[in-house]
Amino acid sequence: MKISIKKKLTLGVGIQFLLILVSVAAGLVSVGLLTTDTENILRANYNSIEYCRHIGEAVDDVDHPAAAIQAFADNLEQQRLNVTEEGEQAYTDALAQNFSAFKANTIDPTLALQIRKNLNAITGLNMAAIQRKSNVAKQTASNSNILIGTVGTLSLVIALTLLINLPSSIADPIKEFTVSIKEIAKKNYAWRIDEDRDEEFGEMAKSFNSMAAKLQDYESSSLSKMLFEKKRIEALINKMHNPIIGLNEEQVILFANDAALKILNLRAGDLVGKQAQEATKTNDLLRTLLQGQLASSATIGAAKPAALKIYADNKESFFEKEVVQVTMAPAGESTEKYIGDVIILQNITPFKELDAAKTNFIATVSHEFKTPISSIKMSLQLLQNERIGLLNEEQQSLVQSIQEDAARLLKITTALLDLTQVESGQIKLSILPVEIAEIVQYALAATKVQAEQKDVGIALAIDPHLPLVLADSEKTAWVLTNLISNAIRYSYEHATVFVDAKREGDRLRVTVRDSGQGIAPQYQGKIFERYFRVPGTAKEGTGLGLAISKEFIEAQGGSIGMTSDFGAGSTFWVDLETA
Ligand code: ADP
Repeated sequence: MKISIKKKLTLGVGIQFLLILVSVAAGLVSVGLLTTDTENILRANYNSIEYCRHIGEAVDDVDHPAAAIQAFADNLEQQRLNVTEEGEQAYTDALAQNFSAFKANTIDPTLALQIRKNLNAITGLNMAAIQRKSNVAKQTASNSNILIGTVGTLSLVIALTLLINLPSSIADPIKEFTVSIKEIAKKNYAWRIDEDRDEEFGEMAKSFNSMAAKLQDYESSSLSKMLFEKKRIEALINKMHNPIIGLNEEQVILFANDAALKILNLRAGDLVGKQAQEATKTNDLLRTLLQGQLASSATIGAAKPAALKIYADNKESFFEKEVVQVTMAPAGESTEKYIGDVIILQNITPFKELDAAKTNFIATVSHEFKTPISSIKMSLQLLQNERIGLLNEEQQSLVQSIQEDAARLLKITTALLDLTQVESGQIKLSILPVEIAEIVQYALAATKVQAEQKDVGIALAIDPHLPLVLADSEKTAWVLTNLISNAIRYSYEHATVFVDAKREGDRLRVTVRDSGQGIAPQYQGKIFERYFRVPGTAKEGTGLGLAISKEFIEAQGGSIGMTSDFGAGSTFWVDLETA
């Protein structure tokens, strides 16, 4: 049976109250019974004995007959009203007769004896009654003891039962609820409480279970939502044409889309969940792709690697690898944490093809240009020959300007041809141990006229005892000529260009420093790109010199770079390997 805690408490306290009432009543009843018994004895018997004693005394009081008669009459009257025992009436009546005689003669000894006999009989009867009633009172007392004992014991048992059961009947469910709430807090939403219990706790259990069920539903629904979103993102990544591979911070492969699996010729099972190091053992292409990750994740993104040549789409294709370092701030934290890498390959084959077509075109055009330009130059020389005929001043100045234009045209055409060589990977290098001083001298000689024209001084500082460098002297001389020529071109008149050569660790560094206008910071990263010229550069040029220089130097295993203080000048440097 389910009862409410309120009822339970009311009942518990009520029963206790009732028990107290019953105990008090039992006590009162017992005391009442005993009092009645005693009163009975006192009123019914003890008084009779007293009356008899007084009558006896009156009979004995021979000296005062009147008083004796009066006392006798009073006590007899009282005794007549207090006849309680069987046979007492007869003796009282006899005593009444005795009194009639006594009134006439108070000193008759026979009468006195008679009276005493009757008095004794009455006293005897009452004494016997006292004895009997005292036994009854004893019995009543003992019954009362039993009653009070029983009621007391019963109260004690019930009180004890309530004491043991009532607190735990309230505390136990509370304890159970506490445990259950903790379970929910631990996300154990499957936890349920037995609902078959007292009214209030039953209600509470029902509410708790319904809450847990709703939480469970919510969790499973948000989980399925998340799973759906995950699937959607996976499908999106899979449908992308670019091969994509994801790794976590421990270099375990998390996913690889269909395009990635296709070019690697692998199945998802061969990759996903595998440590990168292990997966690359059987696949060379994968090793190339994950090279940066295997070496050290910290070096990623330092330099843009060369395009990867991969056989895909039934032809030789080119891919550019991009590594995106993924960082994320964990929930509740503000600092970002590295959580892995995403490797994206971009198919640049169409661009490569276009680029090759462009290179071919430029190569053909510039090659075709070279012969007519050379013949123009030759014709110009012939024109200037006095043996052919004298030119007037105006004609001479025209020929001079045609000659300058032809020279420029030839220079551009040569630069373009050089570039096509670089682009088609046809640079022919002859790397030999050479003295850097020789190369620098060659470059200085080539720019001497240009420097003189602008009155730019060249300050040369070549450390003595420099080791030989491993370089293609012709290409390196071309590069240094270009750098010095630029320095002169972008210097102010009468300025000085500083050319240094010194050892830097296991390399040799040639520096060309000018104090011209410098290069604005936003353009510094671009000046080695093909056809790039700083906007507003007035001097003529192609924007190819530095791009070709970079290709030439890097093809030899060296490096080229610059620093510039905008407004104060630029410093270009070339590092070459020592022999
Ligand atoms: P260009 O034929 O235009 O000189 P380069 O590739 O040699 O082509 O140079 C690219 C651009 O870089 C130049 O147009 C110029 O704007 C800038 N530049 C190169 N060298 C210097 C320098 N020493 N001082 C200032 N700007 C320079």
